[in-house]
Amino acid sequence: MSCYERFGVTEIINASGSVTRLGGAPMPATVLDAFREAAGATVPLEILQAAAAEKIASACGTESGLVTAGSAAALTLGAAAILAGTDAGRMEQLPHCDGFPNEFLVAREHRNGYDHAVRAAGARFVEVGMNEIVSGAGVRRTEAWEYEAAITPQTAGILYVKTPDSRPSLPEVMEVARKHNLPVLVDAAGELPPRENLKAIPATGADLVCFSGGKAVRGPQSTGILCGRRDLVMSAAVQMLDMDDHPELWEPPESLIDRSRLSGMPRHGIGRTLKVSKEEIIALLTALDLFCSGAYDSDRERFHGWLTAIADRLEGTCATCRIDLPDNGQTPPTLTIHLAGAACPREAAWEVCRQLRKASPPVYVSHGRLDQGELVVYPLCLTEAAVPVLADRLHEKISALK
Ligand SMILES: *Cc1c(COP(=O)(O)O)cnc(C)c1O
Repeated sequence: MSCYERFGVTEIINASGSVTRLGGAPMPATVLDAFREAAGATVPLEILQAAAAEKIASACGTESGLVTAGSAAALTLGAAAILAGTDAGRMEQLPHCDGFPNEFLVAREHRNGYDHAVRAAGARFVEVGMNEIVSGAGVRRTEAWEYEAAITPQTAGILYVKTPDSRPSLPEVMEVARKHNLPVLVDAAGELPPRENLKAIPATGADLVCFSGGKAVRGPQSTGILCGRRDLVMSAAVQMLDMDDHPELWEPPESLIDRSRLSGMPRHGIGRTLKVSKEEIIALLTALDLFCSGAYDSDRERFHGWLTAIADRLEGTCATCRIDLPDNGQTPPTLTIHLAGAACPREAAWEVCRQLRKASPPVYVSHGRLDQGELVVYPLCLTEAAVPVLADRLHEKISALK
């Protein structure tokens, strides 16, 4: 009996990849071993985070870094760092920002559910640009001048959400930000792989960048990375770490926290709710090493074999299959199952998706393109044993449409 069954919970076949709703990425054995070993010994958290800072700094080409409780937590901590800086009084005050600037500029088309994490620190958004392509009323995306036009004395920083397609480009936004001395916080949670992005995104000059640890890096689902400027990472660190020590005794590692730059010794900060355990930190650092070494690249071939087997099984049904293998040598392949035509109306994708979730064991395929009649299979969280079961279920539900 599995540990989940012991508590009455049924395991599923996750064909959606590392999504948080379904528990994130599978941790490699090396990462799990490190997690277990770390749990059996004790170290002070600020010393461990200082070691993590060095490791992350070298992986990301930044001055410093921090292991956070996910990328969303990194957004809250990054915003808190930009709002408070090294001012202990401001740290104490957050999320209330009476008396100091707290507005973050954000492109209207960058807004998403994770921006709650930025507002949680006390930031208030000022939207720039339009979303006229989605509204069907225009052809233009947000432009850099629109950020510049919105800057006021109340502006504290800029939130930029990075995707391969985000506009304006990050370098264009950085140019405006540098001219006006405004810090930029970048949400790059899902921008790995390619691993080159670990360095390429901070290399734009972005002051703070957030990456998820529980997606393609395959660390614990509850981890992330905040990397960037030393003074801002220091502010984030003191606002997250447990601060229950005497000012007379507190001697944090200077590489992470330079006491002489703080206006006082803060008490628990706004990020204390976002704590990370020593096991999670060690596991994330171990996973980051694997990710950076290219250890996951060889999985692509096995994944490709699995997806081919599923596509073969669906031959003769009304669905058409397409396998995409990005040419960066790193990103895993995906299988798109397209429903179209009289026998396979595209609206049926919703029903197939619903039926799959009700199957035994339940199957979750990626649901982002159901409107286009597409079910997408991501291989990262599949197992060798699950592949034929998944193929049979898909065949059964799609065949039933006729
Ligand atoms: C996944 C994601 C997040 C949240 O990351 P967590 O590590 O789950 O906290 C934030 N922003 C974007 C764009 C994401 O894709």
